[in-house]
Amino acid sequence: MYNKELFEKYPYAFSHYAWTGEVFYEESTNEPYSLDEDIPKGWSKLFWMCMEEIREPLEKAGLTNTFYFTQVKEKYGELCLYNNGATEEVLDIISKYEFLSGFICDRCGKPADYQTRGWIENICKKCYKAQYKDKEEPRYLIELDLTPIKLRYMDDRFVEMKQDFTDTWEKYLEKIK
Ligand SMILES: [Zn+2]
Repeated sequence: MYNKELFEKYPYAFSHYAWTGEVFYEESTNEPYSLDEDIPKGWSKLFWMCMEEIREPLEKAGLTNTFYFTQVKEKYGELCLYNNGATEEVLDIISKYEFLSGFICDRCGKPADYQTRGWIENICKKCYKAQYKDKEEPRYLIELDLTPIKLRYMDDRFVEMKQDFTDTWEKYLEKIK
């Protein structure tokens, strides 16, 4: 949904034309299109947290009005924030949020308990029960008790990340309380 305050604060979180880099205005409403509409609802808070965290580094680099996301979507159970390029600092922040999405229920935003197979989805026990109550339990569990959070499930095994994302994770948990 378009929100003037959000648009003024985070113009890069709204759709842009790929070729010109200009803000895209929806024909029916003549309003900019917010990219959080393209991702599962459960990740909305995480998305806006990321928009906030990159704001200052973008400003510092003088990129607030030229940086934008070319596409935002869910892929293999993870948030993908494709963009037109920025400083390493900004890109690291973006990767951190993409990573953390893998631990968040994409329906309600609570920490996920499971990652389902086939159609990969991170889902909490409650949402899982509501959706799949008659089906078998998922075979793979996301281990959320890891402190610091730095293991990623990839190719049927856990891979350790270089960065420690515990602070951001805890900030997120505060936000959804
Ligand atoms: Zn849930």
